[in-house]
Amino acid sequence: MKLLVIVLSVLLLSLTPAPQRAESADIVFKNGNVYTASDKTPKAQAIAVKADKIIFVGTNAAAQKFVGPNTRVVDLKGNTVLPGFTDAHQHLSGVGQREMTLNLEGTTSLDDLLAKVKARVDQAKPGEWVTGRGWIETHWQPPVFPTRWDLDKVSPNNPVILGRADGHGAVANSAALKLANVDKNTPNPFGGEVSKDKQTGEPNGMLLDAAQGLVRRRVPPTTKDDDERAVVLGAKRDVELGWTQVQDAGGSYNEVDIFKKLYAAGTIKLRIYKAVYGPGPQANRLLNEGAIVGEFGNRLTVRTIKVVSDGALGSRGAALLGPYSDAPDTSGFLTVKAEDLRPMLIDALKKGIQVETHAIGDRANRFILDEYETALKAVPVSQRKVAEPRWRVEHAQIVNPDDIPRFAKLGIIPSMQPSHAIGDLFFAPSRLGIPRLKGSYAWESFIKSGVVVPGGSDAPVERGEPMIEFYAAVARKDQKGFSGEGWHPEEAVTREQALKMFTIWPAYAAFEDKLRGTIEVGKLADLTILSADIMTIPELEILKTRCVMTVINGEIVHEAT
Ligand SMILES: [Zn+2]
Repeated sequence: MKLLVIVLSVLLLSLTPAPQRAESADIVFKNGNVYTASDKTPKAQAIAVKADKIIFVGTNAAAQKFVGPNTRVVDLKGNTVLPGFTDAHQHLSGVGQREMTLNLEGTTSLDDLLAKVKARVDQAKPGEWVTGRGWIETHWQPPVFPTRWDLDKVSPNNPVILGRADGHGAVANSAALKLANVDKNTPNPFGGEVSKDKQTGEPNGMLLDAAQGLVRRRVPPTTKDDDERAVVLGAKRDVELGWTQVQDAGGSYNEVDIFKKLYAAGTIKLRIYKAVYGPGPQANRLLNEGAIVGEFGNRLTVRTIKVVSDGALGSRGAALLGPYSDAPDTSGFLTVKAEDLRPMLIDALKKGIQVETHAIGDRANRFILDEYETALKAVPVSQRKVAEPRWRVEHAQIVNPDDIPRFAKLGIIPSMQPSHAIGDLFFAPSRLGIPRLKGSYAWESFIKSGVVVPGGSDAPVERGEPMIEFYAAVARKDQKGFSGEGWHPEEAVTREQALKMFTIWPAYAAFEDKLRGTIEVGKLADLTILSADIMTIPELEILKTRCVMTVINGEIVHEAT
């Protein structure tokens, strides 16, 4: 009898629709236009987060059961939610240094330039140097270089030097020239020119190429505090733009020490996937000490060696298989010796260290594929610490079409920067000739060949804005919508592919695809929340889209006001 009562009551209980209990979340985001980047359930309205992880993805109604008394509910009001964006190739300290010095990108006229300099000089201490970079006069009216006398009007006492965007020239004011003892008697140094006024013979302030060094060596070197501040400012800017991780393409353990200090103090929240330069002492230290993986709440990983195998296309330093079309006497040059590289690659495979190599020209790309292939053959899977090493080629800009399938075959990841294409394609046709543009910036061909293509900005070489990169990837046009001969519009990617380029594909390239990169239950709660639906709006509107909120490890680290 007693047993029957128990059985009956259990039966009754199970029939009564008891309120479903779910663990209560720390934050529930609702009314979102959520793209998960997961092929299983691509869209959702709401996300529940507990501690650093996603515990629910689905409808607003179903999310309600995760709302407890202490849950913060964030109404996203229809804004677009994407998995936290990752910049797969950035130079974080450089981005910060650009913020610390005067950033002159987008300066529209001489008056605009002088206004920016004046604002900075007004804040400077007496005698403090004012340095900056990024102006370019080609669109000014008239398109002429600024002079020392222009700068003297806004900075009579503080020394000033401002680099042209391309780095091949700079303008200095009279105070700077005086400190550097540059006057009408100063001869041109080798590889440079001190530009002089035609009538008086006085230096006019413009210093070309090597002549910049005459003044630049007077600028005080950065201090440790400056280096720390650069990281803080770079990380702040990145988070405000919606980046949740940057993959920092090269550097040293000095920066690693700075990151550790800033994470320990809670000063920075951005995730950093750091590479150090090799072959050489930094790489040797990584090989000897082993990788740092997922420290500070999965924020800091150091497991990659960055190699540089050639120069850049603009300065004709990219190593090509044939001569430059506009300079037949040169085909560029490799910047690393195979004999230095080989033992390091073997060691890296045995010790589970990732390698990523800068390769711009088709010769550099073929060279590094050959070297990678040789090492992979020499160290069979059984002798590797990490079976699938996910080695990368950074840029992979100009690749002979025959070499494209080799990436998939060897398991090599091309890590590419969409904005480089829409800048370079203005001069690439003359450097390379139209036929060689097939296989250049070939994002879609790579994806079709069966590899993932993580997307990055290479800031501060480029602006480093996620919306510029996303736009460049899907439009393959300049920021005004222009596309020229030989731009290969068929190499643009779809929006779904572009979303993966900045989320799950960089996660894969960092061995973090199980951890982050999509909006799925169990993954780290990294979100980039935007003012418009970049998956559907007209292309040019992508450039006007703003980041309204950035979430890292379940914490709202940026909220636009
Ligand atoms: Zn770079």
